[in-house]
Amino acid sequence: MGVFVLGIDGLSLECLRRLSNKGHLNSISFLAERYFKAIAKACFPPQTVPAWTSIFTGVNPGKHGVFGFFNAEGGSTRVCSSLDVKFPYIFEILSMHKRSVVVYNVPLSYPFRVLYGVGVPDWLAGNGKVLIKHEKRNLIEDIVKRRVYLNPLLRSVLGWRKFAEILEKELKIRKWVLEGLLEFHFLENYFIVLSDLDWIMHSFYHVITGKNEVPNFIKKVLDEFDSLVDSLIGRAIRRNLDIIIASDHGFKTYSKVVFVNTILRKLGLARGFTIRRVSEKAPVKKLQMHKPSRTGIIEKTLAVLFDSLQRVPLANNIHRQIYKKVISSNVRFFVDSNISLAFASLSIPAFFININSKIEAKDKYTNYVVRLLSGIRDKYNRRVFGLVAKKDQIYWGAFVNKAPDICIFGNVKAGYITSPVLMGVPAIRKITNYHDFDAVLIAKSESIPRTNHRVISIYDIAPSLYALLDIPIQKGLDGKSLVNKKESYVNYIIRWKIASKVH
Ligand SMILES: [Zn+2]
Repeated sequence: MGVFVLGIDGLSLECLRRLSNKGHLNSISFLAERYFKAIAKACFPPQTVPAWTSIFTGVNPGKHGVFGFFNAEGGSTRVCSSLDVKFPYIFEILSMHKRSVVVYNVPLSYPFRVLYGVGVPDWLAGNGKVLIKHEKRNLIEDIVKRRVYLNPLLRSVLGWRKFAEILEKELKIRKWVLEGLLEFHFLENYFIVLSDLDWIMHSFYHVITGKNEVPNFIKKVLDEFDSLVDSLIGRAIRRNLDIIIASDHGFKTYSKVVFVNTILRKLGLARGFTIRRVSEKAPVKKLQMHKPSRTGIIEKTLAVLFDSLQRVPLANNIHRQIYKKVISSNVRFFVDSNISLAFASLSIPAFFININSKIEAKDKYTNYVVRLLSGIRDKYNRRVFGLVAKKDQIYWGAFVNKAPDICIFGNVKAGYITSPVLMGVPAIRKITNYHDFDAVLIAKSESIPRTNHRVISIYDIAPSLYALLDIPIQKGLDGKSLVNKKESYVNYIIRWKIASKVH
């Protein structure tokens, strides 16, 4: 018997509850009410790329080596791909066992290294090619060739209204393709990720959780999404597949933005002033590449203006307007990383702080910065940062040294989200929809007992899949199997490395 893994990017139990109150995601609620349901704690950072990689490998980023969307090795920054993942995916191990898989839109699965079955690239891979390695290649191809690639970048170019129209059409075609693949019983196991809900929630989560009606063009997309999910789950049930519904992180509406570099600058740790331009070539606007621009006369004038502005008390509202202008433009104010002792790297939100590598006794200095930042409190005596820790407190494994020095996250309960953008004030009030750590796992299988209110880890998903599939579990996974079966362990790494090179 096979597994049907449906990944819903950005789904949390709260989100599921809110959406089903509005009449959506009924088949997922149906399973959640009757079978296994748990909060699955995400990895750090709770972001799409490292989290899905942890879900399908079963290890923390210190072992798989992916900490974000970008790889900044060798002086240049590029979007990560499967080649950056240093640990085998469960669907690769299945392929090595000649057990067929469908891998559909799984982040960082492309290029497909070890595959028996069919691989459809994820949106990060751009216009990547479908790969089919199966005896029934022609049958599969007839179905898969109908799929269309929808570039998520169009969302910021066209605006949501127009994008929603195109997405609706694409969802109809995607449904047809996936239904077709589920008809083929010779395809045994399914690993499908749907990214659409994450895109919707970044813009509309505060609407979904509020009392207001969801705009009609979004409702239409959600209806089409429901129709796809209902159909796939229905088919998986009829095929008697074990069903796993998983997400990579949850969502939350934050009410304040904390400017980490501004705080570091006030503490005398970050220094200087630079302007970064956002590259137009990034695959989506969210994934901005930042290139330092040459310091010209305009930059120098702005730097002086910026410093003098800090001495002028401005109303919070004006800072909010400035921040909005900055975010919608293609320039970012930033500190000078060459002369700064500590600075938050440019990702939104800010997840990481780097310590200048020229500093002597860097380790001691890192401890000092961690202590300093952990102690910062707001006027209600709440911590501003819910998490400040050295990389080796958060990660373990062979690739911890690839991680930035300090991990940081705003106080989720207090509604604080971090930003690396340099501003005149340390924080502003602003509603922002962003991820939190509470992902979800729902499972329908005779081997997974029904429980209530359990909290598990996203690292538990891969060992559970190994156990459901009756193959020995890869050694060194970071989670525990939830399946009631005797476990055995094997190390596939060497065979996997050889197989990766052959394909
Ligand atoms: Zn995500």
